[in-house]
Amino acid sequence: MNVLYVGTPTWGWSKGLWPHKGTVSTKTWAGKTFKYYQVSKSARTTGPKIGTFVHENGHMLCGFPDLYPTATGFTTNVVGNFSVMSSASASYPSNPPPYDPYLRIGSGWLTPTDITDLPNTTQSLIANDPASVCLFTDTNSTGEEFLIEAVEKNGVNTNMPGEGILIWHIDESGSNTDNTGTFLEYVVQADGRSDLLNGTNKGGRSDFFCADSNRTSFSDNTSPSANWDNGSSSYIDINSVSAIGSTMTFNRGTGGSVVAVAQKNSIARGNEDITCSKGKLELSVPQTGIWKLSIFSPDGRLVSIRSLGLNAGYAVIPENLANGVYIAKLTGCGTSLVGRFLSR
Ligand SMILES: [Zn+2]
Repeated sequence: MNVLYVGTPTWGWSKGLWPHKGTVSTKTWAGKTFKYYQVSKSARTTGPKIGTFVHENGHMLCGFPDLYPTATGFTTNVVGNFSVMSSASASYPSNPPPYDPYLRIGSGWLTPTDITDLPNTTQSLIANDPASVCLFTDTNSTGEEFLIEAVEKNGVNTNMPGEGILIWHIDESGSNTDNTGTFLEYVVQADGRSDLLNGTNKGGRSDFFCADSNRTSFSDNTSPSANWDNGSSSYIDINSVSAIGSTMTFNRGTGGSVVAVAQKNSIARGNEDITCSKGKLELSVPQTGIWKLSIFSPDGRLVSIRSLGLNAGYAVIPENLANGVYIAKLTGCGTSLVGRFLSR
């Protein structure tokens, strides 16, 4: 049930007609049964407003969380005016930005393009298309991911803080309402200034990636860094972000200096020293001899080592590897070859 009112009552946080979503024991009225309700102010002196209505219905109909600080003594707002579940509902009550990609995906409104295992590809996004989103997930399954969308300042995105490629960092172990140390969602600020974290502003033009501002790359080696929240490498490696337009593109590189990337149980990609195909590392060495094959875990731990006498061949990837990105290193005859593969 939606309860809308006009006027300017006296209120305080969580008092009187403070806009909120709530629950009552099941009621039937005019043939309709309801349990959940929301109360919001629908007009100001300048006319009808929808910001709070959209926010409260996000809670009521979709179960969306608040994305602004609500806990006593906690003030950090890392999605600011990018989200109607945060301050955008009040900052732009006539035309707030839409629900963000994480909430749209969680509601089943779209299936994002998963680029996690698509290195060396150019990706294309349609600006302001709510279904045009790229997903990059943590292969260690820690509940972290990046969501990437393209924004132009028109239509429902007229009041977005800027335009270009917008990257969201999601950590499902976090919260935006209290001080857990990690955030459920935060906007990756392309300018690297952490203005949202520091409370300097609620988002700005320089938080977007685009060729127009020469902010065109996002990786483990850039500032801001693409590391996961525990500091480990994500290997997302976004570069060559295009200019602002109705279609925007970016390149997904291989993620770091190691060149071979392939997925266990998938076909090989690339044309490097060590590639991977259907659970096998394919090895081609410059000289016949004794070679040592070492496999390192994502955090650099040696997990497997074998000696091989070969001039070419393959080695089966150990089946007991946990999901993650691994480095395969082949050393012998005074040289070394290296490749990287995903185990999942
Ligand atoms: Zn709320």
